[in-house]
Amino acid sequence: MLTRSRSRSQSRSRGPGTGPGGDGEKAAVRRREGAASGSKPCHCPLKRPRKAKRLHVAYEVVDGAREEGKGASPLQVPHWEPQDWQQQLANIRTMRSRKDAPVDHLGAEHCYDSTVSPKVRRYQVLLSLMLSSQTKDQVTASAMQRLRAQGLTVDSVLQLDDHTLGALIYPVGFWRSKVKYIKQTSAILQQRYDGDIPASVAELVALPGVGPKMAHLAMAVAWGTVSGIAVDTHVHRIANRLRWTKRPTKAPEQTRAALEDWLPRELWGEINALLVGFGQQTCLPLHPRCQACLNQTLCPSAQGF
Ligand code: SF4
Repeated sequence: MLTRSRSRSQSRSRGPGTGPGGDGEKAAVRRREGAASGSKPCHCPLKRPRKAKRLHVAYEVVDGAREEGKGASPLQVPHWEPQDWQQQLANIRTMRSRKDAPVDHLGAEHCYDSTVSPKVRRYQVLLSLMLSSQTKDQVTASAMQRLRAQGLTVDSVLQLDDHTLGALIYPVGFWRSKVKYIKQTSAILQQRYDGDIPASVAELVALPGVGPKMAHLAMAVAWGTVSGIAVDTHVHRIANRLRWTKRPTKAPEQTRAALEDWLPRELWGEINALLVGFGQQTCLPLHPRCQACLNQTLCPSAQGF
């Protein structure tokens, strides 16, 4: 089992008084100083440096357990993780090994023009993410193609009138609202970020029409930084079906927090595309294909379908 306590146990393995400047070393210095000054020799037995007490740190302390008087010993609270998650994850990787789901060739990583400047590429990534909410990948990719044919930059979008922009992105979900958000966000990017996109989740979610999932994906795709787990409806649904959250969650943001609580950080970057594709091909929203799923015997929800 992966634990997060390795560095903690290393830093605590030396007890007080054993390192440079500890009690044992100070006593030896005092003896040497006494001898050098010619003072009466001391016949008291030499104090041996105390052996370091070994601290056993088995698990990371969870919030609240550090406080005194809260009952449980502060070092004994096991870190929660879902049963069988490693095998379930390995099975999903196997089922996704062909990488032939819509997200694998039409997702945000595939919708920008790789020949333009990095700044314009980042803007195109953000725009494709804004278009993608409540929209199938194929529809988003087609809208991006039409926009790119016009030369897709902050300036070119701001020069389009709302009617023309609407016609270019139609039929993405909520296209009328997205016209408004794209115009507002593009104006902010032009004024405050010199046409680039911000490089933090906090600044990204402050933009009109940009939610946490888009912000984390933009950080990953546009900036190459894993800032958190991007949770959309697929990730939210599958995490709950597999019981990857300690308690059932009602919204994607709750699911993100619940997953980030136990999933090792080095896996955060792969979860979105892995589960989105799995949700597009196997663990479908209404009629999951449990008969074809390698997790059928490990999945608590398989019986329900
Ligand atoms: S067994 Fe069914 S519900 Fe469970 S992960 Fe597989 S497809 Fe989804």
